[in-house]
Amino acid sequence: MGFLRLFRCSPILGAWRSARLKPIQIWVQHPPRWKHSGGGPYKAVIFDMGGVLIPSPSSVAAEWEVQNRIPSGTIMKALVAGGKQGPWMKFMRGEMTVEDFLQEFELHCSEMIKSPVPVGSFFSQLTSSQVAKQFSVMTEAINRIRAEGLKTAVLSNNFYLPNGESFLPLDRKQFDVVVESCLEGICKPDLRIYEMCLQRLQVEPAESIFLDDLGHNLKAAAQLGIHTIKVNDAESALKELETFLGFPLWKIIPNTCSVRKTMEIPRDSLEKYLKNLLGSQAAGPMEVMQFSHGQSNPTYSIRLANHHLVLRKKPPGKLLPSAHAIEREFRIIKALSDVGVPVPKVLDFCEDSSIIGTPFYLMEYCPGQIYKEASLPGMEPNQRKAIYTAMNQVLCRLHSVDIKAAGLEDFGKHGDYVQRQVQTWTKQYRATETSTVPAMERLIEWLPQHLPKTQKTTVVHGDFRLDNLIFNPEKAEVLAILDWELSTLGDPLSDVAYNCLAHYLPSDFPLIKGLSDLDVTQLGIPTAEEYFKMYCHQMEIPAAENWNFYMAFSFFRVAAILQGVYKRSLKGQSSSATAEQSGKLADFMSNLAWDFAVKEGFRIFKGMPNTKLSTRSYCHWTHCRLPLIPNGTRSWSTFSKSSHYLHTASKGVLMISPEALSEPVRDLHQRLKRFIETHVYTIEQELRNHQLSEARWTPPPQIEELKEKAKSEGLWNLFLPVETDPERKYGAGLTNLEYAHLCELMGKSLYAPEVFNCSAPDTGNMELLVRYGTEAQKTRWLLPLLEGKIRSCFAMTEPQVASSDATNIESSIREENGVYVINGHKWWISGILDPRCQLCVFMGKTDPQAPRHQQQSILLVPMDTPGIKVIRPLSVYGLEDPPGGHGEVLFENVKVPKDTMVLGPGRGFEIAQGRLGPGRIHHCMRLIGYSERTLALMKERVKSRVAFGKPLAEQGTILADIAKSRAEIDQARLLVLKAAHLMDVVGNKAAALDIAMIKMVAPTMALRVIDRAIQAFGAAGLSNDSPMAQFFSWARALRLADGPDEVHRTTVAKIELKR
Ligand SMILES: Cc1cc2nc3c(=O)[nH]c(=O)nc-3n(C[C@H](O)[C@H](O)[C@H](O)COP(=O)(O)OP(=O)(O)OC[C@H]3O[C@@H](n4cnc5c(N)ncnc54)[C@H](O)[C@@H]3O)c2cc1C
Repeated sequence: MGFLRLFRCSPILGAWRSARLKPIQIWVQHPPRWKHSGGGPYKAVIFDMGGVLIPSPSSVAAEWEVQNRIPSGTIMKALVAGGKQGPWMKFMRGEMTVEDFLQEFELHCSEMIKSPVPVGSFFSQLTSSQVAKQFSVMTEAINRIRAEGLKTAVLSNNFYLPNGESFLPLDRKQFDVVVESCLEGICKPDLRIYEMCLQRLQVEPAESIFLDDLGHNLKAAAQLGIHTIKVNDAESALKELETFLGFPLWKIIPNTCSVRKTMEIPRDSLEKYLKNLLGSQAAGPMEVMQFSHGQSNPTYSIRLANHHLVLRKKPPGKLLPSAHAIEREFRIIKALSDVGVPVPKVLDFCEDSSIIGTPFYLMEYCPGQIYKEASLPGMEPNQRKAIYTAMNQVLCRLHSVDIKAAGLEDFGKHGDYVQRQVQTWTKQYRATETSTVPAMERLIEWLPQHLPKTQKTTVVHGDFRLDNLIFNPEKAEVLAILDWELSTLGDPLSDVAYNCLAHYLPSDFPLIKGLSDLDVTQLGIPTAEEYFKMYCHQMEIPAAENWNFYMAFSFFRVAAILQGVYKRSLKGQSSSATAEQSGKLADFMSNLAWDFAVKEGFRIFKGMPNTKLSTRSYCHWTHCRLPLIPNGTRSWSTFSKSSHYLHTASKGVLMISPEALSEPVRDLHQRLKRFIETHVYTIEQELRNHQLSEARWTPPPQIEELKEKAKSEGLWNLFLPVETDPERKYGAGLTNLEYAHLCELMGKSLYAPEVFNCSAPDTGNMELLVRYGTEAQKTRWLLPLLEGKIRSCFAMTEPQVASSDATNIESSIREENGVYVINGHKWWISGILDPRCQLCVFMGKTDPQAPRHQQQSILLVPMDTPGIKVIRPLSVYGLEDPPGGHGEVLFENVKVPKDTMVLGPGRGFEIAQGRLGPGRIHHCMRLIGYSERTLALMKERVKSRVAFGKPLAEQGTILADIAKSRAEIDQARLLVLKAAHLMDVVGNKAAALDIAMIKMVAPTMALRVIDRAIQAFGAAGLSNDSPMAQFFSWARALRLADGPDEVHRTTVAKIELKR
């Protein structure tokens, strides 16, 4: 792994360090063979390309000739023929096109051997990406040369390719200067081209070294006073170059460099100390290199005679008492080595700061292999499996250490490790919080409630991961566990979970290449669950069922750390780009953590014993959460506060009947029912007539009057679920399940939801603002929406793209002169025609090049912004659904300030998903209401209508229809309630299957029920005289408006197949 490490290499390292994470050590993979140290007079190294950095044309030609049965040496002979005026040299000087060169060259070759020579094929091979690849040793050497502060250049006799570009299969960034003959019109060994290169490098000939495979080119360079190296093979050339430069270039200790100026240690006193320690045989010069990443506790590679050591010291300067506790590291490594845990062999702890300025300790250098990538590229599945098994075994070995026998009883506190860690990291997070991160809030509440019931106490490593292990290169055996800075006594399962973090990070994750998008099973790598099982089996303990809890905890800890990095980087310790990155990563990690919390919740839920139906309450109990106590803050719901405390105790109960609701919610249900029956049903016909009248685009005054009445009766803003608004600052604080019963009631009339300020799209938009809005955005938009003073719309769908896939959205959001400029074409924007609509929640693309789900952003666009043109209302089966309507609308150069962005660029998709959290099933709840109302109307009708001598209610088909409708409504309702219940107890993500199922089921169920009723009504059923025709068209529209059925079916099937 190594994402923490990688992060620490970034400019935010300083901040990271102070977050008390361990320093970085990269141990040696191969023993170095270099013996020289010190600098030299050189400032630049100049490389020829073919034959030095990449294979030479002569070696490619030799191979090609064998493959093509061309007499050996033909190509090279032809290349040099003609000298300076031959086709090859002309081609190199850029005087001939590829076509002309190949034509002339082919003729020449064919004449030489008196048979055709397909030189085009040779040219393709020479320039192919398989052949023309830079030697890796050269890449390593160039990196090292540059790391030591020297310049590098390529000086190549080169040519143009057919595409008009020069042939340079190298990363130009490796070189300060690139000189190519075809561009300059001069070729080596012409002295002018060397001078040109030196001039561009701004070095004197004597300050440079030139490497080439051709003697005449080297001779010319030497004439100018440049030091030269003939390259016969790359490795010998590098050995020679090392002697010039005085530092190693090849097979070096990875990730080491010369000691940085600020990290210098007094060599004389250290050498004296070491000679004393190691004995008289430790003679010879001492070589010191620094591990490039070990900055927290600087770490050095020391070679003295035949000893190779690793020195780790405290950093200089004033330190926090608990930080950089290298004495603890020394102690644990020593104690563990004494009890047979593979660790580097520690030699000595030196407290005496007079030797190198701070205390330090010494270990023997442990050669071996460190695997940095969790996917173990290039290995066979069985090898990967063996590596993971060995890692698991060594962790078991560590956790099996008898802490008493090892003398480590006082190495940390005993018991409650996870609890203490959650507290610590919550405190750290709170201290560095910059804005509300919803997942962190949920975790801070959730983690303490789900702590493991029992925790063992063992040595824990604290940063246990693949790239902290040195493996035997020959077999899957761990030779040493490194990096003990975070070790303590604690719950061993936290190490196992931490060890699995890479499993859940994508392979292109910025800090570490993870495994989440790879098929680990095919790779031979155990899944995280299997890894836990393997561990438990090995430890002979019961399977850790709550391993998802430990994963949630591990990601929470990482998120809290990253938040700290973010906060400190905002203080100017890092570039804004990095700051932004760490902020996003903290969010990302917290969401991952929450996903695990949800999975754990779901596991608990599923594990509940089968419940009995209570005859009294029609409910069954799952697990109850603690009631939340209202804090007396202002609420935008008029539902009485005094009742909150009582009813929230019902969270965790699946109540399938309103009678089972807690007393205050039952009361709410009854009052709502009465209100609808008394005040809404009675004006429905007027409202329907209004919708067909000329005044239809003006909101009917009756609705405004009823809104005031509903508000005064406490029947207001009932939709906002307690999980989104835990303090009940804005809504009634009902659970989704409680609201499902109320929402069904509201669904019985198409006009009721608005009366109680519970109608789409405002509900989704209000939830969006509560969850993601800044305080300013809430003040501007949320409060008037909560008060029912304005209305809003949500603009996503576009006519030109399939909008069921939101990633298709094309509207553009460009940043220009400090504002966002929007251009796009939208349609089916519900509510946009309503004169009260003042806010358009707009979704568009800010970065079409970003990963698919990070291209979109959401803006809060005031409807009076110039450039918004509503072209027409669309109709659903002929009804325009006034006064809100569904508009087709153009956004032409609509300019809005930058603070209209919600959360930040690229967060649109994520918000759109969250926006429809609970709102996702409100339509389904209402569809149950449509169906119940329709069935009631049907029953009434068939009892009084007589056909062919008897009431319709006595006709067998009618009876069958009623029976079918009853059964189907009840089935769907149960599913709605179950989905709502799961959203309450395990969260929206874990309830995804049930949410998708009900969205798939409810509209089609309602369509069938309504259709039967319409049929039973006869022609009257189709008219505007009852709500049924509108119910029907709405139910039909909802098979699309909430996402097409097919999309929900796909979701269901995919989840099902995974189960
Ligand atoms: C009454 C109403 C109100 C609406 N209100 C709003 C609103 O306020 N704001 C807004 O932005 N949008 C709104 N919409 C638009 C609605 O969200 C889209 O119509 C919906 O997302 C589908 O997109 P589309 O129409 O572009 O269909 P397309 O994406 O073109 O899909 C067409 C059809 O392709 C098929 N299909 C799609 N995906 C799959 C799949 N994975 N597998 C199999 N078949 C598939 C389905 O049959 C689907 O119906 C509303 C729509 C209606 C009808």
